[in-house]
Amino acid sequence: PELSRPGGPAGPGGTLTSFRDGIETLIDGLVRELAGAVECDRSLTGLAPVDGAPGSWRVETREHEALVADAVVLAQPAARSAPVLAALDPQLAAPLEQIPSASLAVVALAWDAAAIGGAPQGFGFLAPHGEGLRILGCLWDSSIFPGRAPEGKVLVRAMIGGALDPGAALLPEAELLAQVRGDLRRAMGIAVEPEHAWVFRHPLGISQYTVGHLDRLACLERGLAQWPGLHLTGQSYRGVAMNACIEDAGEIAGRILAQLPA
Ligand SMILES: Cc1cc2nc3c(=O)[nH]c(=O)nc-3n(C[C@H](O)[C@H](O)[C@H](O)COP(=O)(O)OP(=O)(O)OC[C@H]3O[C@@H](n4cnc5c(N)ncnc54)[C@H](O)[C@@H]3O)c2cc1C
Repeated sequence: PELSRPGGPAGPGGTLTSFRDGIETLIDGLVRELAGAVECDRSLTGLAPVDGAPGSWRVETREHEALVADAVVLAQPAARSAPVLAALDPQLAAPLEQIPSASLAVVALAWDAAAIGGAPQGFGFLAPHGEGLRILGCLWDSSIFPGRAPEGKVLVRAMIGGALDPGAALLPEAELLAQVRGDLRRAMGIAVEPEHAWVFRHPLGISQYTVGHLDRLACLERGLAQWPGLHLTGQSYRGVAMNACIEDAGEIAGRILAQLPA
């Protein structure tokens, strides 16, 4: 799939990159490439070594019969892995429970460009504390990424919530929209009702590496050493950004391949 890059003169060229049809392209591509080997929409509910001996795992899911696996990689947020591992090894669950995540809501709004005085030029803005705005920032998607909105339309995405304002991401939809529209009226001068509005909530959106995170990682490493074939990856551990998650996953995949019986 083709990548789309920011083109606007005010955009931080080369920094914001996505796929033409959005990040979902990456996941769809993986599912396509792994057709037959990957099963989606299964919720992990439990994990136990087969016959109590590490090295072969029984993976319980809500929807189907259990799977048996040589290796298991838990790639869900730490708060979701903690209850799954609590029965297996409380010493693994404890540090996982201490890795919090901040909830975030993304509010996407769309207008006719003519109705708001033309498409904004640039990538958007971050809203520092003290500016009197509750949103964390706003990305001017249709100006950053070609094809994100039909010709003549403007799409922006505002982020709200985060570690310092967790309640904002949980506001009822009408309140959330009113807050974001009020902030954009102040910051961008847009008072016109949007043609479309969407709210996407990410309850465990961004893992927080609070003081003691490296100690917790070391504790997890020691704990995992007792359970061959069990791995943890994803944004809760060694990097929140997508690139960091992909790099970490690649390294773990390499380790698993090296350990699997030939
Ligand atoms: C609003 C927002 C904007 C961001 N923007 C950027 C950006 O511009 N650039 C960047 O690099 N990063 C960005 N990030 C960060 C980055 O997107 C995330 O850190 C990254 O996608 C996390 O990937 P992940 O695979 O660890 O977690 P997720 O993508 O959250 O995947 C975890 C998966 O685990 C599944 N799951 C949970 N529990 C279970 C269970 N019991 N059984 C089975 N499956 C389960 C979930 O359904 C989910 O699919 C952003 C994050 C947010 C929230």
